[in-house]
Amino acid sequence: MSSHVFAAVTARIADPARLFIETPDGQQISFAAMLARSAALAHALREVGVAVGDRVAVQVEKSPEAILLYLACLRAGAVFLPLNTAYTLAELAYFLDDAEPTLVVCDPERADGVRALVAGRAIAIETLDATGRGSLVARAAGKPATFADADRGPDDLAAILYTSGTTGRSKGAMLSHDNLLSNALTLMACWRFTGDDVLLHALPIFHAHGLFVATNVALLAGARMLFLPRFDADEILRLLPRATTLMGVPTYYVRLLQHPGLTRDACAHMRLFVCGSAPLLSETHAAWQARTGHAILERYGMTETGMNTSNPYDEERIAGTVGFPLPGVDLRVTDPDKGHTLGPGEIGMIEVRGPNVFKGYWRNPEKTRSEFRHDGFFVTGDLGMIDHRGYVHIVGRGKDLIITGGYNVYPKEVETEIDALPGVLESAVFGVPHPDFGEGVTAAVVARPGSPLDGAAILAGLEGRLARFKLPKQVVVLPELPRNAIGKVQKAVLRETYGALYD
Ligand code: ATP
Ligand code: MG
Repeated sequence: MSSHVFAAVTARIADPARLFIETPDGQQISFAAMLARSAALAHALREVGVAVGDRVAVQVEKSPEAILLYLACLRAGAVFLPLNTAYTLAELAYFLDDAEPTLVVCDPERADGVRALVAGRAIAIETLDATGRGSLVARAAGKPATFADADRGPDDLAAILYTSGTTGRSKGAMLSHDNLLSNALTLMACWRFTGDDVLLHALPIFHAHGLFVATNVALLAGARMLFLPRFDADEILRLLPRATTLMGVPTYYVRLLQHPGLTRDACAHMRLFVCGSAPLLSETHAAWQARTGHAILERYGMTETGMNTSNPYDEERIAGTVGFPLPGVDLRVTDPDKGHTLGPGEIGMIEVRGPNVFKGYWRNPEKTRSEFRHDGFFVTGDLGMIDHRGYVHIVGRGKDLIITGGYNVYPKEVETEIDALPGVLESAVFGVPHPDFGEGVTAAVVARPGSPLDGAAILAGLEGRLARFKLPKQVVVLPELPRNAIGKVQKAVLRETYGALYD
């Protein structure tokens, strides 16, 4: 018997004595220890009643044990269901009602609250804290270091991962063993990961980026992870000389660029910087290259699909693009209204098909049906185009498209112009109801430290650079843009906050 993903991991372990995880506070977990400890945890899962196919909801701080718990779920044939640590108890209620887990693993401080939430239901509760201690680990102590992995094939569910909730309520994406394995193997090959790599891991592990992209790639490559509890620019700079790769969201790169310690020398040992989860500004890409000599490799993916495209390893990595469709991934751009495939340079809806694409939304067959075409393509909700060289460009989300006076305005185009103005750090352009135009183009702008900005100056600066209908009707200057835990700008929050601007 074997569990598809875990069997692939096990088969690739060349030297069990090599380190899998190392933390700044001196914890070291070898691949052999990973095998033994995930086995003990899998026994603990069985002991609390987790059967094959059951959901295990996990809302815990980042720790190596949380990764071992993920692996234990794979081995026990359970469906791993990680939850954002920022969710409040009230928010947690939605996920627990929706997912109906057999077991909830939470921080000890939350256990009473969670117990009250699930009162009356047959849901077990175990704890795990940021230091890797808790009732589940205590239960695993003394359990055997081997486990008969459940029989799980490529099409069986490995995880339910909830989307980030950027555009609305989070949806549970059902991911199969093969969704995870095929994508991780593809990325490993495209990004040339080997057992000699040391991945600086600062991402949260309740999200596809930190869990599946970073961790699965490292696991399959036999690479070591320098595992940080969270992003901290000082820590990253301290550890860069020991690492070979970093995966981050755009805000990591922006913040590292603000650090005086970021130099060519500091990055001399690095071979690859990967970025994704939100758009990386071309300016950040250029500044990074100038400072470090490295071209950040930007890629594009989503919870439902894992990674879809990546800039190339060897060929040119082009700022402002997300590169080529990954091997095995079909990607097309279609007319959002009529559905036909568009040609190079034409903006439309991005659709993808491949072994990476999920099995549907958990308990939401209607939504699943409405997001898939008859020929199996998944409608991503992102607008973009493929240029004449084949590089994919994302211009924004369909839901963020502004229709003003009957014209389409792609926020990114306006943001790019605003960001180029002196004194501007970043911007977000969004539409809110407008009595004359349907929607009014509106910009939220953040000033660079020490540069006073006002809306009128920004509007004056845009004059002549964009067609009149694309110009913001109003500009608000903010100390920062609203962002969620993974650093995505929350345009829905901006639309709500400024919903009555043109009333
Ligand atoms: P929800 O679906 O709940 O609204 P979400 O789409 O933000 O939330 P995720 O699955 O975490 O949840 O994010 C996927 C989205 O992130 C993509 O659809 C795309 O809009 C955006 N994204 C990811 N990588 C990039 C990138 N390199 N450039 C631009 N956008 C990106
Ligand atoms: Mg989404």
